Amino acid sequence: MRENQQRVISFYDEFHCIGGDCAYTCCENWLICVDDETLARYRKEPGILGAKVRLNLKHHKTQGIVFRNFTKACSFHGRDGLCSLQKRGRIDLMPLVCRIYPRRIVKVCGCTEAYLELSCIQAVSIFLRHQGRLYLKPYEQELPVFWEITEAEADCYEFLKKSREKMLDILWAEGDFFVKIRQIEEYAYTAYQWISRDRLEKAGTVSLPPEERDKEDLRIPDYFPENFPYGTVPVAFLNQLIYRKINQQELHRANPYFEQLLASYRKQYGAVMEEEADGFFAVHVEQMLKKRPEFLWVFRSYYSYFLQRSYMDAAYDYYILSPVMFAGIYTELLILCYLTAYESGKKLTDYEQAELIANMEKTFRHNPAFDRWVLDKIRRELFSK
Ligand code: SF4
Repeated sequence: MRENQQRVISFYDEFHCIGGDCAYTCCENWLICVDDETLARYRKEPGILGAKVRLNLKHHKTQGIVFRNFTKACSFHGRDGLCSLQKRGRIDLMPLVCRIYPRRIVKVCGCTEAYLELSCIQAVSIFLRHQGRLYLKPYEQELPVFWEITEAEADCYEFLKKSREKMLDILWAEGDFFVKIRQIEEYAYTAYQWISRDRLEKAGTVSLPPEERDKEDLRIPDYFPENFPYGTVPVAFLNQLIYRKINQQELHRANPYFEQLLASYRKQYGAVMEEEADGFFAVHVEQMLKKRPEFLWVFRSYYSYFLQRSYMDAAYDYYILSPVMFAGIYTELLILCYLTAYESGKKLTDYEQAELIANMEKTFRHNPAFDRWVLDKIRRELFSK
């Protein structure tokens, strides 16, 4: 086992929570899970404060013990917009997720990597300001690990690290971003074929396919949309996801911003037929990118960040297709959200873009049931062909 190496994403140090000034505070409309260690402290905490924290607990059917929400905000969220536990200096009584958020700190094979979740508007604002390719840099202060993948094996870790760099190198080299997504997906598919045959060493020798090739040469399953060059899955797939997996009532309570965006999506594109959707959106995205070419940089950065942040999770089950497919699917969702906002007349200033990304991440990325549904659907409908 190697010595603990700690690395953080290049803009990590720039983050500061804006607390009471935050328009989308994480103390409202979130399900707050209580970790075992903090729960043990609640059981021992004497006096009224102990009674108050215990009174606020409830069992959630999928998330375990969570804070009860009597209103849409956390019970410890004060009128000044600050956490009353934190103000009392009782950080030890804040659930781990509150102490860490928006940091995402994962340890794999003795190496810790830390990122910032883009569901925090302040983190997205910093993310949108950064220039060039994001990278990991060494970090001296001890990082509180939120998730440790103990199943990871050293050779798998080494493979993942090198393969992630291969994909990011291609992504950031000159050339068409959307072609690169296809190259990366095909690379992951080929490498995974070796992994599934227990040939990790062969997976390590797979190189990224060249940009220019005949369609007949493609090894990936023939499901990638032909008419929609901007995405990983057909638009109809995303449509199902939006309409079947988002609980509209819950959305009204938890994310009014996204509820409005979806209403706009429905109004603008509700009449588009499924079989025409890919062609229709391809034309509209192209027009948008002609007028606002800077969005392309946001889409590339988002894809890159997503892949970088999630790829090492595959150390858990070796399923490298999952982070690669999700990077593509979430980027495609982002493009649809940008298009909806843009065509509904929003200026999409830097702040409006940060709002859009944070709210999209909040609705989709922090919903494990949603990810499970996507994975099942991909396995069942696409990879079983
Ligand atoms: S969303 Fe981010 S900036 Fe806003 S209160 Fe939470 S951590 Fe702070």
